[in-house]
Amino acid sequence: MRVTVVGSGYVGTTLAACLADAGHDVTAVDIDPDVVAALNDGRAAIHEPGLDDLLAEHAGERLHATTEYDGVSDADVTFLAIGTPSRADGSIDLGPLTAAAEMTGEAIAGGSEGSAAEGNPEDRHLVVVKSTITPPGVGAIREALRAGAGDAADRVELATNPEFLREGSAVDDFQHPDKLVFGTDSDWAAERLDSLYEPLLAATGSEVPVIRTDPETAVMIKYANNAFLASKISLANDLGNVCKRFGIDAYEVMDAVGLDDRIGSQFLRSGVGWGGSCFPKDVDAIRAAAREAGYEPPMLDAAVAVNDGQPDRMLDLLDAHVDVAGERVAVLGLAFKPGTDDVRNSRAIPIIEALQARGADVVGYDPVATDTMREHFPDLEYADSAAAALDGASAALVVTDWDEFAALDDAFDAMADPVVIDGRRIIERRDGLTYEGLTW
Ligand code: NAD
Repeated sequence: MRVTVVGSGYVGTTLAACLADAGHDVTAVDIDPDVVAALNDGRAAIHEPGLDDLLAEHAGERLHATTEYDGVSDADVTFLAIGTPSRADGSIDLGPLTAAAEMTGEAIAGGSEGSAAEGNPEDRHLVVVKSTITPPGVGAIREALRAGAGDAADRVELATNPEFLREGSAVDDFQHPDKLVFGTDSDWAAERLDSLYEPLLAATGSEVPVIRTDPETAVMIKYANNAFLASKISLANDLGNVCKRFGIDAYEVMDAVGLDDRIGSQFLRSGVGWGGSCFPKDVDAIRAAAREAGYEPPMLDAAVAVNDGQPDRMLDLLDAHVDVAGERVAVLGLAFKPGTDDVRNSRAIPIIEALQARGADVVGYDPVATDTMREHFPDLEYADSAAAALDGASAALVVTDWDEFAALDDAFDAMADPVVIDGRRIIERRDGLTYEGLTW
């Protein structure tokens, strides 16, 4: 099939590369010329394992990138994979996605004038929202698409197909999904999505459940999914904070709790909390949408409150051991989780701010996220290695569980005062180290 993917960030690039790999002809559209140039060059503008290999294989063959919307009208399916960032009140900013939907509608109307004039009954266009949007947002994007399409509005149909991939394993997650969710208003749209995913599903070698529902329910499934996962971690953190008060290792407790198959063992690792571009934004967005609809969701409010408090708890543990004013303090890990260079809502951000407020001389280290963090803290000192960050430091705060932090060993010996506050349970306790685990 001919597929256009509008927006080439983490989701759009993964989608475009994987659809090309599945045999489709894909055009990636992005307003950023650097992103487009990188894609045509066979590489991603973002760090994501396996993505560059797919791009190198398919760029110039089954995958082309452009800043223009012209080709949209020729596509069998157009995906919108545009960012939906938070506004100050937590609700999602639909501005960029609305603009892309309008431009997509205009391109469809402009490009299909010929075939419409010839009365081509097959001249219908399916536009699929991949972005995470709230149920009321679906109507807004459908309106924008129809407004852009003008007289061609009746030949354009909107569907939703929320994405569940995780940064750091985006390609593998996309190629081996736990489920697919198709939110459509017609059999025609559902069948088109079936055809599109058919080669991908055939390649998984396992039975992938496909949930077929309406567009609003589909996007609500995405929010419920993320709200559940974020709340699960927050509950583990809440219980972890209780464990710490009693001198109990929360991991020993949760390892046992996770054996209950009604609970499951995943997302029970307590620590400094969740960040990234999805959990904070999505939980805030559905809380804001619920409030707007007259319901204040107390469980989701509490999940956010627990999460917001975890960095402070790390700082409390630090304060109990060392006054960091004027001292060098290493922050190990800047990405919101290992395997990505994404620092959006990383727990490292409030930690660095709190350290700076205490007058500490902060040095940050991350194996891949230094450049992205530099945009938030241009004047921070960034080390080339964890060992260099620790050298002469009076304390270290571990914020991301990169594997390499588990093997630092002698690097701690170069610290001026070896106080380590571990927010991810990645450092081994050892002689000569003043070690505090956040919830253990
Ligand atoms: P992103 O910010 O990484 O990428 C968005 C891209 O869209 C950018 O490259 C930007 O240049 C481009 N863009 C903006 N306006 C445009 C326009 N008018 N036309 C063409 N391109 C335009 O975003 P992302 O992380 O890929 O997320 C996209 C959506 O998918 C969001 O709604 C997000 O919530 C959702 N999502 C993200 C993830 C994730 O792990 N990142 C997972 C599931 C769902």
